[in-house]
Amino acid sequence: MHHARATLREQGYRLTPQRNLIWEVLRDARRHMTAEEVAAAVRRTLPDVNVSTVYRTLELLVSLDLVVETRLEGSACYYEVSPEPTHHHFVCTQCGAVGHFGDELLAPVHEELTARQTFAVSQIQVTAFGVCRDCQAVAQVGAASPPFDVPSA
Ligand SMILES: [Zn+2]
Ligand SMILES: [Zn+2]
Repeated sequence: MHHARATLREQGYRLTPQRNLIWEVLRDARRHMTAEEVAAAVRRTLPDVNVSTVYRTLELLVSLDLVVETRLEGSACYYEVSPEPTHHHFVCTQCGAVGHFGDELLAPVHEELTARQTFAVSQIQVTAFGVCRDCQAVAQVGAASPPFDVPSA
């Protein structure tokens, strides 16, 4: 488990109630959350917290490697407590479902960069985009049932 409180203090950041709560929300969620979802959860306890505070805190936690930010295609972006061991994501561009694969699959990349390019790798992040099994099945059924709720005009 991560020691967010210790890390914040060591880096000279104050552990404000907002920062503490935002951290706890993500840690207890054990899933990927958008900043909006984090803000909504935080407001259940601290109704006055504004979204920009949540964004700034998430950025801070990311900069301290306590939280990982993964960008979806387009503007969507989600957060989770830094996984141990490191994992990578594959994301369905149709429904947003997220899967994980292990860091060990990137061993050849580490090898190439460290041994051949003498590059000191600190972190590799890979996100694969595509279409999940469910959405492929929907596509095969045909155009009869669209994958999304189509808003009525
Ligand atoms: Zn993840
Ligand atoms: Zn999907």
